Amino acid sequence: MNVYDSKRIIDTLTKSEFEQIDNSKNADILIFYTCNIREKAAQKLYSNIGFLKTKKTKVIAVGGCVAQAEKDLIFNHKGINISFGPQTYHRLPEHINDILKGKKDKILDLEFDQDKKFSSLPKRKNISYSEFVTIQEGCDNFCTYCVVPYTRGREYSRPVKDIITEIKELLAIGAKEITLIGQNVNSYHGEAPYITIGNSRNTWRIERLIQEIAELDGLKRLRYTTSHPKDFTTELMEVHANTPVLVPFVHIPVQSGDNRILKLMNRGHTAQEYLDKLSKFRDICPNIQFSSDFIVGFPTETDEEFENTVKLVQEAKYTISYSFKYSRRKNTPADRMIGQIPEDIKEKRLDILQKTLLKDQICFNRSLLGKTQEILFDRIGRKEKQYIGKNVFLQSVVVESDENLIGQFRNVKIDSAGDNSVKGRIV
Ligand code: SAH
Ligand code: SF4
Repeated sequence: MNVYDSKRIIDTLTKSEFEQIDNSKNADILIFYTCNIREKAAQKLYSNIGFLKTKKTKVIAVGGCVAQAEKDLIFNHKGINISFGPQTYHRLPEHINDILKGKKDKILDLEFDQDKKFSSLPKRKNISYSEFVTIQEGCDNFCTYCVVPYTRGREYSRPVKDIITEIKELLAIGAKEITLIGQNVNSYHGEAPYITIGNSRNTWRIERLIQEIAELDGLKRLRYTTSHPKDFTTELMEVHANTPVLVPFVHIPVQSGDNRILKLMNRGHTAQEYLDKLSKFRDICPNIQFSSDFIVGFPTETDEEFENTVKLVQEAKYTISYSFKYSRRKNTPADRMIGQIPEDIKEKRLDILQKTLLKDQICFNRSLLGKTQEILFDRIGRKEKQYIGKNVFLQSVVVESDENLIGQFRNVKIDSAGDNSVKGRIV
């Protein structure tokens, strides 16, 4: 989502009198767009400001979730002029001009203004072949470890019409793959584009939205992320089975495999309920693959409870997963819990979990050997003539080619499989 927001900030500024340049050394204005989900991201901000600031710098703006969480404390760090939240970046040109003209010295803009933000954003430009589109923002789930409901605000779903318009714009200028994004896309309930009998709220859910998007000319692949297990419906599984452009790969984070910890986290489901959803999904869509997020060392987590997470992983069989040590976030309920887990125990648990996850990842990569897959190439590799693309499972696939493959879909036969990427040749 921060990649999406950053691109929209560039669109907004370049539509006004500003220009994006390649080298920060020559920049008058430095903009930092931040994440606050774990502690490290906030620490990086302050060291990056020190590193990138030069004598030429006239304005430093810090945006995103660190700005939203720190409020005016952010100005304790010397040199920062503007602090803007994730919902106010449409006003950035105005704020930068106020600082440049000397009208103001410091500006704090942290309102939750989703409606106005999306309606003020200009047309998309400078895009890649694979693009994100925000459909939903904010979260009402209040998982006890998480800052998102406080930094991104309450749930907001963009109207269907706006999402379709943005995707059509992207497809018209070359995008081929679209990823619908939101903190919890499965609770999407955006204003419908027309009134339908029997739909008293006149909103569409994600299932209907996907079906509408899938019909758009030029769209080759469609993804969405992130899904909350408790909101994942059987209907959405059926949409997967009937919608060829929708990839057979879904990120459904579970966080823990232990029922007591899941309850303390306020996730709203048990480990078994989660596993049952995965197996129902596999029944409906036999080629579906899953990825997940995990948090180890949540307050009071015992060794046995951590073992339940390892057991869940062994049963769920993920293609890839992301795992993190629990990070204390200010003003969240978990931060106030007694029984915080020491860092060395979190480290050990993370190591065990990551080794377990890697085994399945390698196993999945190997299962592709000899198979032909359609790859969308979007990067050049480190070696000459090397191109890197993604398959439907978001795995990086490397090939050699004399022809420039960027932006192309090609069938590739996989002939070698490493831990993190696979190699192949064009067929
Ligand atoms: N909305 C998504 C997650 C968004 S945050 C969901 O509910 O699944 C992305 C991931 O960061 C989470 O899935 C979680 O694994 C991790 N995360 C969030 N807060 C964290 C914290 N305080 N410490 C460690 N990891 C955290
Ligand atoms: Fe955070 Fe996701 Fe829970 Fe929302 S559902 S509070 S974004 S972890």
